[in-house]
Amino acid sequence: MIRTNNNFNFLKGSYLFSEVARRVNEYKEKNPDVEIIRMDIGDVTLPLCKAAVDGIKRGAEEMSNKETFHGYGPERGYEFLRKCISETDYIARGINISSDEVFISDGAKSDIGNFVDMLPSNARIAITNPVYPVYVDANIMAGRLPEDEATDIENKGKIIFLDCTEETGFLPKLPTEPVDVVYLCYPNNPTGVVMNRDELTKWVDYARDNSVLLLFDSAYEAYIRDENIPRSIFEIDGAKEVAVEFRSFSKTAGFTGVRCGYTVVPFDLKVVSDNGKQFLLNNLWNRRQSTKFNGASFVVQRAAEALYTAEGRSQVTEMTNYYIENATLLYNKLTEAGMKVFGGKNSPYVWIKTPSNISSWEFFSLLLEKAHVTSTPGVGFGSTGEGFVRLT
Ligand code: PLP
Repeated sequence: MIRTNNNFNFLKGSYLFSEVARRVNEYKEKNPDVEIIRMDIGDVTLPLCKAAVDGIKRGAEEMSNKETFHGYGPERGYEFLRKCISETDYIARGINISSDEVFISDGAKSDIGNFVDMLPSNARIAITNPVYPVYVDANIMAGRLPEDEATDIENKGKIIFLDCTEETGFLPKLPTEPVDVVYLCYPNNPTGVVMNRDELTKWVDYARDNSVLLLFDSAYEAYIRDENIPRSIFEIDGAKEVAVEFRSFSKTAGFTGVRCGYTVVPFDLKVVSDNGKQFLLNNLWNRRQSTKFNGASFVVQRAAEALYTAEGRSQVTEMTNYYIENATLLYNKLTEAGMKVFGGKNSPYVWIKTPSNISSWEFFSLLLEKAHVTSTPGVGFGSTGEGFVRLT
């Protein structure tokens, strides 16, 4: 028999969304006349804005012309887009990030998944619970198992969960044992909670004091309206020495089907290998990307560039405002109805505590049958999500 990567044995089945779909379909078959309101899937519902479509058209025109045709592009992305990102998303906000610290990709999920290539194989990885499952699964594929399953495997690295609960406002506490890497995601999926400046500063200081790499997922930064909430980890002093930031146009501009995102790896971030050799993480990531990636599509990068025009920026704000209004409405009505609700502000996600402590799946069924609303059971995002559901 042909042998395979044994680490896949340790992945949990992608049971959550398939089970939600199965139960919804079963209900629909039994109740064909009922209109179901889908609040489970974390996808956008509005079509692309005009600026993005014009960008795609422009890119396609250029590709159809001998003088402006583009074949293989730079692996790290075209300068025209990296410049827009560095100037608009960072320099204009007082953060000194140059275009060469920005890497364009086909979305944040790929970059987050691929970044495990950069981590030492025996790394101790801290991940919040509940969590966006990609951080956990990508590390398991690379041989780093959750702590309880990793005990008998020597020198393989491990995953340590940082439990986030109602008592902590669904924010993690600093690890109590040594770790090498921490994944943070704010505004958070699934809980919708955000991290304020003091809280984020605590993590950056901790990372600097303990030589910890912070992998900061800011896929939902476009939903932040409160000026006191950092949109980027690089707003915090010293973060450039310890943090990498992942961003996406998916939830910002409805690019979930177009595919474009970017990762910022600052030049200040220095790393060391076991033989004591020092590197810039930026150079290593560039080396990794040029080996395994041939760059995001030119046409898509033109579409993303168009989001940075005045027209594009106002259309993006209009789209995100729409999702924020929905989340605010949900938050307010559920709170008025006496429910305990997290998130919903500066985020498209609303995280609800189930009434009378019933389980996530029981509440999922109740919402489906009585209100014809679909939700995502919180327990699917980790053990501390039990007793909660996510709406979006
Ligand atoms: N990070 C988080 C927290 C997400 O929720 C998602 C998508 O749902 C992603 C990253 C992936 O974004 P992209 O569509 O750019 O791959």
